Amino acid sequence: GSRPDTVMLSGSAQPTPRLPSTHLLNRLLFSTPFRRRLTIDDFEIGRPLGKGKFGNVYLARLKESHFIVALKVLFKSQIEKEGLEHQLRREIEIQAHLQHPNILRLYNYFHDARRVYLILEYAPRGELYKELQKSHTLDEQHTATIMEELADALTYCHEKKVIHRDIKPENLLLGFKGEVKIADFGWSVHTPSLRRKTMCGTLDYLPPEMIERRTYNEKVDLWCIGVLCYELLVGYPPFESPSHNETYRRILKVDLRFPPSLPLGAQDLVSKLLRYQPLERLPLAQIMEHPWVRAHSRRVLPPSVQMAS
Ligand code: AMP
Repeated sequence: GSRPDTVMLSGSAQPTPRLPSTHLLNRLLFSTPFRRRLTIDDFEIGRPLGKGKFGNVYLARLKESHFIVALKVLFKSQIEKEGLEHQLRREIEIQAHLQHPNILRLYNYFHDARRVYLILEYAPRGELYKELQKSHTLDEQHTATIMEELADALTYCHEKKVIHRDIKPENLLLGFKGEVKIADFGWSVHTPSLRRKTMCGTLDYLPPEMIERRTYNEKVDLWCIGVLCYELLVGYPPFESPSHNETYRRILKVDLRFPPSLPLGAQDLVSKLLRYQPLERLPLAQIMEHPWVRAHSRRVLPPSVQMAS
């Protein structure tokens, strides 16, 4: 018989998720009449939120519950043309199983003849990238808050053996209170050794071991948030150069220079993250306890989220 939509693609039976908020959301989102699958007719479509490579994202509302979401519409033809069906499937499965206040939720998905629809958490304050363009830099308070949020979100990912690999302002959205939401499909999966070592993303955030195409592990994410911390405070990434080759060269040398205006506490944190040797990078738990982060972070958790589990 037909079951309510489920995000499990691999077919293994999973119990319902543990968080109360999740139960509620699943009820809101999955309780279509006769438990049929969701379709586009279940939504009222609002303004476009943005354009992506494979389709557009719209503000949308479930007709039944009035629940607001971001609906990402991907065209099957484009995904097939690029041979990304399997990757999309795997990425949906991973993101759907990540439930954390600083990771954009993927609630569900459905498809019709031409399109795949992803039902995503709506991030009301949009892209961190745009905020950075507008204000050039972020202050210590906002940056330290983002560092704590990302360290917590990545701890959660790494426990689940998920490496992100692609943290950068373009991939971070902002929630209602300005809290950061990791939001992209650059998710890298479980076993890095089985992964093709593909190069993607901005050169500025590439860790040395990825440039040198060595095997890498979750410590690539420590490098990336070090680069991010620098860019948010300074206004440009630490190894930015006129040419690709020069950027590579500076990353491999870890040619790190701080503007004197950069607070010493932040310099200390960044220099402990941007280490050539992955094992020497400051672990996530110590980022959260770093004196500069503790002094400036104003993290608030949404009330519905319980940090247990
Ligand atoms: P993407 O295809 O994921 O790059 O999305 C294209 C653009 O849509 C992004 O750069 C954002 O500006 C916007 N966008 C995507 N997802 C969301 C969301 N969940 N909430 C708000 N804006 C979004």
